[in-house]
Amino acid sequence: MIVGINCGHTVSGSIGSGASGILDESNETRNVGRRLEEYLQKRGVTVVDCTNDYAATVNENLSKITAMANARNLDLFVSIHFNSGGGRGSEVYTYGARKLAAAERVCENMQSLGFVNRGIKDGSSLYVVRRSKAAAMLVEVCFVDTASDAELYKKVGADAVVRAIGDAITGEKEELTMTQYDELKQLIAAQNAKLDAMQNTLNKSQNKMIYNYVDKNMPEWAREAVQWCMDNGIVAGDGNGLNLDDNKLWTCVIIYRLASKLK
Ligand SMILES: [Zn+2]
Repeated sequence: MIVGINCGHTVSGSIGSGASGILDESNETRNVGRRLEEYLQKRGVTVVDCTNDYAATVNENLSKITAMANARNLDLFVSIHFNSGGGRGSEVYTYGARKLAAAERVCENMQSLGFVNRGIKDGSSLYVVRRSKAAAMLVEVCFVDTASDAELYKKVGADAVVRAIGDAITGEKEELTMTQYDELKQLIAAQNAKLDAMQNTLNKSQNKMIYNYVDKNMPEWAREAVQWCMDNGIVAGDGNGLNLDDNKLWTCVIIYRLASKLK
């Protein structure tokens, strides 16, 4: 597996650097991104660093990032960002809001850490997502300018975020995404329903109805014939009833019709 990691914007304070609030985006994307690279390498992932520290313009920064990513045949391109503008929680941008398994796992793993799950959003208009040859996800870890997010981030620590994203990429911890889990549950429910129906059919064919008396339980088409067979000593009860199944009922009907013809 070969994965491109981009530590967001240029370095803090330079042209094209990230947002700052309680946290500094450029610093924290490097804090998380660099450790993420190590975390993935330890798990056998080939990591391509796609971080650009300095650029003359924002566009230059973005095109340099994409050039690094597209120079290799990546399985996945991951851009790490922190959000700003007021809000709470984590979100992941993919092209056309595609539900990439890794993206779903990032949302779930971040939620497990206590961050609000803002879900997968459409990143088609984001340069690095749109221009990436490989499947791409841009992770907004949390909001730099929301106190509760910044506090939670400091509390759980960058390493926990690294594990959340790293395990999402390798798919090691969570074998199934919630969507896959739901699909599987539906599939199993449908299979069970089919099995139940088959079992019912089987039971019906095995548990033959037995008729012991000429009464309302006996099919109407057979009653007259069975009564005639009893009256003429062709069938008789054994003390527990007549013990007739469907085949025997039908036999009584044939005998009765035959006798009527012969009269
Ligand atoms: Zn950003």
